Amino acid sequence: MTNASSFELFPSKISRHGNDQIEIEWSDAHKRMYGIRQLRDACPCATCRELRMSPRPTNLLTILKAEEIAPLLIVGMNPVGRYAYSIEFSDGHSSGIYTLDYLRELGRETPV
Ligand SMILES: [Zn+2]
Repeated sequence: MTNASSFELFPSKISRHGNDQIEIEWSDAHKRMYGIRQLRDACPCATCRELRMSPRPTNLLTILKAEEIAPLLIVGMNPVGRYAYSIEFSDGHSSGIYTLDYLRELGRETPV
């Protein structure tokens, strides 16, 4: 375990892993795997936060929108300043700003 403070952590490499995952290699050599759907569901923008807090309909016959059926892809990941990334998804959503601290918490550690 390193004791580096979080602001020194940054992704040194981001690579696509299959169709539905990305892998981020961090500056401290930790690697984490991220499901694209997981990242989308964790979107920190105000709209998505509100959606997550609103009560879910219990109707099981939920009709899925076309963009929810199509495989979700990451179209782009762009650095925002030195502390965050904005992620653009194939469903057209790109307003989430993922801070590096937040990204670091998401995903799951993979063996180096
Ligand atoms: Zn969002």
